[in-house]
Amino acid sequence: MRISVFALALVVSLLFIHTLLGSLAVTGGLFAVLYPFSLNRRPFRTCRTCKGTGRHRGAVFLYAHRQCPACGGSGRHRRWGNVQFRPTTRTRAERQARAAATRPNRPL
Ligand SMILES: [Zn+2]
Repeated sequence: MRISVFALALVVSLLFIHTLLGSLAVTGGLFAVLYPFSLNRRPFRTCRTCKGTGRHRGAVFLYAHRQCPACGGSGRHRRWGNVQFRPTTRTRAERQARAAATRPNRPL
């Protein structure tokens, strides 16, 4: 079971602060700090159309498929924050993936 850090922070801050507004402020501050780091480390979200498979399945011939028209077959999209705030620059994770794909000792 996965619990959001922000839900956990809200509950813990409610235990210590005892006011909803103060707890929301603490949780919002935590969100403002962690969200840019999260966007940098995990820049993508799963495609909702194909659920991350990258395939659009046929309705008549069930074995047939083509690339998902929403994600182009990659199964993922850039997250909203990266699209809004960093539309033209690559994140750290994207740069690392690009470097790994072109490194000389990569197996064929
Ligand atoms: Zn897709």
